[in-house]
Amino acid sequence: MGTRGKAEGSGSGSRGVSRRTLLIGGGAAALGTAALAVDDVRRVWWRVPGVEKPRKPGELDYAGARWVAASEANWRRADRPDDYGVDRVIVHVTQGSFASAVKVFQDPAHQAATHYIVGQNGRVTQMIRELDVAYHAGNRSYNERSIGIEHEGFVDRPQDFTPEMYAASALLTAEICARYELPVDREHIIGHVEVPGTDHTDPGPHWDWDRYMKLVRAAPQPPHPS
Ligand SMILES: [Zn+2]
Repeated sequence: MGTRGKAEGSGSGSRGVSRRTLLIGGGAAALGTAALAVDDVRRVWWRVPGVEKPRKPGELDYAGARWVAASEANWRRADRPDDYGVDRVIVHVTQGSFASAVKVFQDPAHQAATHYIVGQNGRVTQMIRELDVAYHAGNRSYNERSIGIEHEGFVDRPQDFTPEMYAASALLTAEICARYELPVDREHIIGHVEVPGTDHTDPGPHWDWDRYMKLVRAAPQPPHPS
């Protein structure tokens, strides 16, 4: 589950314009066919260098996601990877239902949220842009340099980690790793429990890292931008 962390300030850095220009078509249904996923990934890769543009409500970084905005109290505006490099994906487990995770991330009092939530049925929802710093790791510098992904379930219920959830999450993580040129390994894809200073245990002992990493490695890679 996400935690804001004591060291995380509210920050300022309100910039009206982002240098990043990911142009993405409408959100595809989660877990479409592989062919659809590859086509969507191609669209994600359509960057226009040097062009500044305002953010648009509902804009996605991952074409397989649907957008639901988190409360602005649960993240801060940034311009990653230009201000902070992205060097990690952090895996979380919600300790609750998909709907309850969406609800608390919309709640300004929660003070925490991840960029993505993956459901047991493979649904992917994006709630914070990857440009921005989500409060999820309980460690300021890790927050600034990571993408957080929640998974629907409880750490003590192995049956919650469904094949659909692993598959959808692995596709998402593989795309993130490709986009930021991160090696697909356990230094760059970690659990919340591995973040220095955290008191959280997720994703817990039933999260099958071997299975997950194999799926991430096997995911179709998007074409490299030239
Ligand atoms: Zn967590």
